[in-house]
Amino acid sequence: MPNEVDQIKANLDIVDVIGEYVKLKQSGQNWKGLCPFHGEKTPSFMVHREKQIWHCFGCSIGGDIFEFIQKMENIDFPETLQLLAKKANVELRPQDKREHGKRTRLLELVEAADNYWHDLLLKSPGARTARDYLKERQVDSDLAKTFHLGFSPELWDGTIKYLTSKGYKIEELLTVGLAARNAKGTVYDKFHSRLMFPITDIHGRTIGFGARVLGSKKADEPKYMNSPQSPVYNKSYVLYNLHRAAPAIKQAGYAVLVEGYMDVIGCYQAGITNVVATSGTALTVEQLKLLKRYTKELRLAFDADLAGQSAAERGIDLALEAELEVKIISLPTGEDPDTWARKQPAKFKELIDAAQPIGDYTLSRVITSFDIKSRQGKKTAADTMLKAISKLPNPIEKDFYLKQVSQVMGVAEANLRERLALFSAKKHEPIKVDQEALASIPISRQQLMTERLLALAINNPDWLVILGRELSPNWLATSLEQELYRRLLVYYTERKQLSLDELKLELASEPKLINLLERLWIQASNDFTDYTPEQEQHELDTLIGDLKKNYLTSELKLISESIRQAENKGDQPELTRLLESFKDLSKELSNQHNHAQD
Ligand SMILES: [Zn+2]
Repeated sequence: MPNEVDQIKANLDIVDVIGEYVKLKQSGQNWKGLCPFHGEKTPSFMVHREKQIWHCFGCSIGGDIFEFIQKMENIDFPETLQLLAKKANVELRPQDKREHGKRTRLLELVEAADNYWHDLLLKSPGARTARDYLKERQVDSDLAKTFHLGFSPELWDGTIKYLTSKGYKIEELLTVGLAARNAKGTVYDKFHSRLMFPITDIHGRTIGFGARVLGSKKADEPKYMNSPQSPVYNKSYVLYNLHRAAPAIKQAGYAVLVEGYMDVIGCYQAGITNVVATSGTALTVEQLKLLKRYTKELRLAFDADLAGQSAAERGIDLALEAELEVKIISLPTGEDPDTWARKQPAKFKELIDAAQPIGDYTLSRVITSFDIKSRQGKKTAADTMLKAISKLPNPIEKDFYLKQVSQVMGVAEANLRERLALFSAKKHEPIKVDQEALASIPISRQQLMTERLLALAINNPDWLVILGRELSPNWLATSLEQELYRRLLVYYTERKQLSLDELKLELASEPKLINLLERLWIQASNDFTDYTPEQEQHELDTLIGDLKKNYLTSELKLISESIRQAENKGDQPELTRLLESFKDLSKELSNQHNHAQD
């Protein structure tokens, strides 16, 4: 049955798809990176290209490309199927579309509104004000198409009428914030007579809107309005234009961060495409995580006054904590990126190239803002600088700026260092770590040996013949591993080979066994591919011997305990039986020791 799932897997390369989220490096047959599901500094996340599987040896989760996307994007299976089908250019059969979830229907609704408004902007006579505004801002129709700008009609129910005629329910319109209900209970268009900026997720799907008022606005009207939070739109997780800018960001090596939709479009007019906007929210940890998929450097183009404001400052702090390199693009006072990019495109590019590292920027601002010749001025300036230095994550950078401040202000470095301790960086909310992922249990020696032995057998299944003779399942660490071992033996005995895909089909109803099998499969290609048969044989003998010893030792401990209980109870027959087993096991263990010394 060549189903869509298989087709999608065949068209996509798991290394490429996961590579969009995790920086992967080849290591033997596997690709390795830092696990996106738990915090770690050394990579234990592995991807096997040929087998199309991944596994994290730190938090013990793994699976195929679908399980990765589902977990990474936090979406259900139907949505994952849609998303990957699009990526893989696989057309889904109608029944798969019918099955798709409520969320997918909401996404289609938002897209329908997007298309409706875009058409109005391009064609409707009523959209003249919007087209005039764009002309005035020198946004031509190509650019309007690139950003899929739209116009929401002047009527109070134009959008509602259109969308309900397409089969969507009022409740659905309310859910995604396309309609609102007034105090009397009347439903009306949430956006009317506005220039619409569709906001997309990282896959380019429209999930919400920003809307700018056109013409003269009433006193109580906000200039910009955004879609409310909804099941499809969470503003903390979105950066405007990121899906379009991602390739340019990767290529440039940095992202330009501006504030608003028009700033982004202004940058495009100037030919700068590696640009994203926060669209009215303070920068969040989640947005920074998204950016970190593509770059390590962020250049902020906020106007000079704004950079000093607390919202921007907090964003900078978060970016530094996320270990992003932060640079500041200093615009002339009173200029925003939109107007400046249009007026002076070449100069704007120069300013971006000349962006200053946050430390340099703060230092130059401090020097010009305070009278560092006076006692008080020097004190305030030094403290401002120390506060900024304390936030730098890299000790080498800290050192560098301490020396600079010492030189520029004529203060002994030792004194600055002493005072720096007072500014020990106040931490913001820590970047959240998946608690479930952290619950992994520390692995015992017995478990390590068990896994190594099974991985060895998977790497070279012929060893299963020897294992079947010499290794009792009881010697393995847990019942899960014992079960997998039995299943491998049965499978191999029947077919004289192992196939991951077929085994997975056989184990389909036992996800824990599949998880373990995939993990061992990756471990096998990581640990043993360059072993000679002699090395394998040696490793096999050692592991069998150690596992047996381990088993006998723990059995002896259990029997000793039972002997003590039988003595206390005065149970003579039981005692005789136990002593007999104890003798046998001791003898076997000592044979095992002697054998090991051969
Ligand atoms: Zn992990």
